[in-house]
Formats: sequence, C-alpha cells, structure tokens
Amino acid sequence: MAQALPPIRMSSSAYCRLKIAHGLVGTDRQEIPANRMKLKRGTALEPVILEELAEAGMVTEFTGSQQLEVVCGEPYRVGHLDGIVVADQVQGFDTWLEKLLPQEFLDDAAHGLSVMLEVKTMNDNSWKHFNRKGLNNHPWLSTYEYQIQSYYHCLVTPEILEMWNSEDFLDATEVGVGTGLSDSILVCGFNKSTDQFAFQYIKGDKKFFDHISGQLQEMVDWVQSGEMPAPDRDGRHFECSDCAYAYCCPAIEQLLETENEELEATELEDESAKAAEALAVAYDVAREQEKIGKARKGDIKDELVTAFGSPAKVITPSFRVNLSEVAGRTMIDDKALEELAEKFGFEIPTKQTKGYTGISVLPRYGVK
Ligand code: SF4
Repeated sequence: MAQALPPIRMSSSAYCRLKIAHGLVGTDRQEIPANRMKLKRGTALEPVILEELAEAGMVTEFTGSQQLEVVCGEPYRVGHLDGIVVADQVQGFDTWLEKLLPQEFLDDAAHGLSVMLEVKTMNDNSWKHFNRKGLNNHPWLSTYEYQIQSYYHCLVTPEILEMWNSEDFLDATEVGVGTGLSDSILVCGFNKSTDQFAFQYIKGDKKFFDHISGQLQEMVDWVQSGEMPAPDRDGRHFECSDCAYAYCCPAIEQLLETENEELEATELEDESAKAAEALAVAYDVAREQEKIGKARKGDIKDELVTAFGSPAKVITPSFRVNLSEVAGRTMIDDKALEELAEKFGFEIPTKQTKGYTGISVLPRYGVK
C-alpha cells in the first residue's frame, strides 16, 4: 500500500522537489535562523498591510483567524489564502489606492465580482521589479505564481475544494465565491523599505496549475515507491544557499567534491593560500557594502525628488544639490540595424575593445 504522506504546502509548490520530499518524509532539518526571521517578519506585516488597504476602501474578508484553508488531492496539498476582496464590501477606493489598482480589477469590482487577494512583502530591489514587470521574469518573484495559481484553482473548482476557518467548516457557496469570483487574482506587492504599494492582476491559468500538479505528483510517486527524487537544482542555485537539507543533498556533495579536487589542484603555498582567502573575504565584504551603498543612494535620491521636486536647486550649509531632468540617450537600435544589414546585404562593422581581468568570488557551500 502507498505510504500516507502529509500535505504539501502550496506555498512551497515551486521549490526543488528533493527539498519538498525531505519535508514530506520528515528528514532532520538543519535550521537556518535567517529563514525563520524572514517568514516571521512577512507574517507580522500582513495584518498591518490589510488594515491599511481596508482604510483606503479595500476591505478583505477571510483573514486572520477567519483565514480560509484550501485543500486539494492528487497530490494532497493545503494552502492558506491571504483574503478575498468581497464585492459587496467595496464602496470605492481612496484616490492614492485607486491610482495604483489595475483597471481590470476596478472593472471587475464595479461589476460586483469578488477577487482573491495575495499579499507579498518585498525588499526594495524586488519591489522595483514587481512595480515595473509584476512577478514575471524574476528569479524568485516568478515562483510565487505556483502558489497563487494553486490557491486560485482550488478555490474555483468546487469538486476539489474544501474550506474551513479555525472553528467551522465553510461551504464555498456560504462565502459567496465560486459563483461571483473574478477569473483573475489581485497580487499586492508591499515594499518593506519604503512602505509603497504596487499591484498586478493575474489571470487564473488552468494549464499552469495542471503542470504544477503533474510535477508534484511525479515527486510524490517517487517517495511512495520508497525512493527520493533527484535534486532539481545544481547546488549553486539561490534556493540551495538556505536549504535545510543541503547537508544531505547529492547535488551539494557533488559540488563540494569537484571543488575540493580543484582546490587540491590549485597547489597554493600556505602563505599565498592565506593571502588569497583574506583578499577574497575582503572583496566579498566590499561587494556587500557597495550593494547597500547603491540601494541607499537610490533611496536618498528618491527622497530628495519627493521633497524638492525636479528640476530644483537646493543650497544646504555644506552642499549644492541640483536635481535635473536628464533626457534619454539616443542609441543604435541593434535589432533594426541587423534587419537593415540583412536586407541590404552588408556586414555591421565591429571593433575590438580592450580586454580586462574579470573576477568572480562565489561562496562555497558547507564552508561559508
Ligand atoms: S540543496 Fe538545493 S538541490 Fe539540494 S535539496 Fe536543497 S534545494 Fe534541492
């Protein structure tokens, strides 16, 4: 008989399947305190964000202790929705919020449709990406779609839907969803550094949900046959750097083995090995400081523009601050040039620039 497994958390649907499988069979976890803190901070901020939205007119139901749990089988999964913007609670939005909300969402709300809401807290860099492109084309923001599509499809598929709050089972029809629910999901991105909001309206995608289900079912089939799936990452992926099962992962083992062989082959004298280590550590520290400095510089610039507008000249006791509008540069359109070259049969002239020494200093897992 197939082994009964605990449910997979829908929020981990995009994870490496070996990592999920370890969680299902209860392999000892190597605790990563930074992960716990990140999760706690995100969870603590959520009610504050929902309150802020409610004050601006977006009342969300099924939050906090009333949070809905969606469950589906094949494979067995559970998820907890952040909330549903219930149509009959919407009386209009404050101007600042209305300006940020996607028009399609406003249209759905005006037509009396309720909308599933997902809130994501983000650091400044990720939020800037989200504000421009949404969850698309970003290494980890894009993984949120796995979770969101899973929630949504359980919510709109009555035969696989079970929902309950902490006390009572709630039937789908009782909460007014499944009938009057929009076919899109509202994603709210909240910038933890600047307290700014941004939104994206995503269409429910059944094909993508089926793809997620298929991938997870394949992993469950491996586990139930008594084997663990192969790692989905190569050990250098960002997910590996804070994986609680890295200590027993074949991808990491392979990586360390190769690197140890390379280390032996490097044959550095003791003194030069120490010097190389010290310089690599110093480089890593400088790089971190540069990153923090760059982000801080951007924030200060934004604050100055907000405070004084642009263009502006401000004289302070120690500085002369000029804020000016810089026009976009005219650049050669590579694609158009290639098309012209092909059409008229000429070769695009190129010239070789001076070479330089590149540097890449990467952490070694299990060491740093
Ligand atoms: S270390 Fe990477 S490859 Fe290995 S289980 Fe964790 S996430 Fe997967």
